Amino acid sequence: MIERTSPEALREQHAAYVFANVATYYDEPLVLVRGEGATVWDADGRSYLDAFGGILTVLLGHAHPAVTERVKAQVERLVHTSTLYVNEPMVTLSARLAEVTPGALKRSFFTNSGTEANETALLVARLYTGREAVLALRHSYHGRSALTLSAGGQGAYKAGGSLPGVYHLASPYCYRCPFGLTYPACDLRCAKDAEEVILTAAGGEVAAFIAEPFQGVGGFITPPPEYFKEVVAIVRRYGGIFIADEVQTGWGRTGRYLWGIEHWDVVPEVMTSAKGMANGFPIGWTIATEEVAAAFTKATISTFGGNPVSTAAALAVLDVVKAENLPENAERVGEALQDGLRALQDLYPAIGDVRGKGLMVGVELVHGGKRPAPDLLRRWMEAARKRGLLIGKGGLYGNVARIAPPITIGRSEAEEIVRILKAAMEDVMPYWE
Ligand code: PLP
Repeated sequence: MIERTSPEALREQHAAYVFANVATYYDEPLVLVRGEGATVWDADGRSYLDAFGGILTVLLGHAHPAVTERVKAQVERLVHTSTLYVNEPMVTLSARLAEVTPGALKRSFFTNSGTEANETALLVARLYTGREAVLALRHSYHGRSALTLSAGGQGAYKAGGSLPGVYHLASPYCYRCPFGLTYPACDLRCAKDAEEVILTAAGGEVAAFIAEPFQGVGGFITPPPEYFKEVVAIVRRYGGIFIADEVQTGWGRTGRYLWGIEHWDVVPEVMTSAKGMANGFPIGWTIATEEVAAAFTKATISTFGGNPVSTAAALAVLDVVKAENLPENAERVGEALQDGLRALQDLYPAIGDVRGKGLMVGVELVHGGKRPAPDLLRRWMEAARKRGLLIGKGGLYGNVARIAPPITIGRSEAEEIVRILKAAMEDVMPYWE
């Protein structure tokens, strides 16, 4: 029998022994003890509808039976090999992934997190092209290693400065267009900026452009439909390759089988993912074309990469997403969710923008004159939590609610999310300025 520590003691120890800058939501950090489907329970027995799906990790909901069964069987059989030995789930998964990824993507490398996946992708792009310059987007987030932090385009995470060789393009953030323009009259000025940056700051050469098909931590920023085609064509003209960071957008969440980038009709040379890939088990993954992967000629190893338990979980995720047609569900339920949130936008001036695709929906809160309202979001999240709903936070200004529940939810849960957010908005409107 495992002895349980009280929630008060856990919060005290958390405050005393965990790095103080580790972000937690809510005035009093929530201690979670159990999850099932889209519901989680805290240590005081209260239940919540988890409309952040962990942190876009529990794609199929907490403790999905198909994942649990596969993981249990694997734990009893073989827990670890490292990449030095071949294990069945890792190899089977590699072959399956080559089938379900776009274009000529073929060779996989497994790690433990999205950070490592992107670090690998950038390294391989530099080796393949023999160049250094990496283009990334402002408002992006790609991880917390030195290079991926440098590729990130949000000041709040820039601990320890930035490495040289990374150049940031304007984000396709139409609600706050960096050029003060309006789509489509803007003629995609943000995409055309890539050429200017390559020719000036990057010295005329580029190794890779890394971008999220929808910017996640940046606040579910959704580009205009032609944006990626335009920017990737420019990057390729100057010899660079395209890395699609599907850490948040993969596995059907945005309503496509299986990738966010498939909305934009562009095929990457390298793709990465993590988060929802193994429904919450730690995993990172980089896939590259045969040609690009061949450039990685130095010896490499990952101690925990390709772990048979995590890769077994990922196989279960692939099976369930396909068998239950979940991308279609995400598209249908996501549309209902956006409709409900747009109806709230008509009622409340604090809701400046509703955006996203599938079950990746951002709600940007503003005061009058489009002033970012992070204070209001903090109160909105707190009020929603008290009413039994968890949502996420994002955006450079900390004013974008991120709604990304498990993609298994139905219309009734989407309606419940909207109902609670409406009631919570009533609570916070007195603070709108
Ligand atoms: N890329 C994107 C788009 C992310 O959202 C994140 C994490 O939020 C990462 C990379 C880094 O992943 P991890 O936290 O697993 O290292």
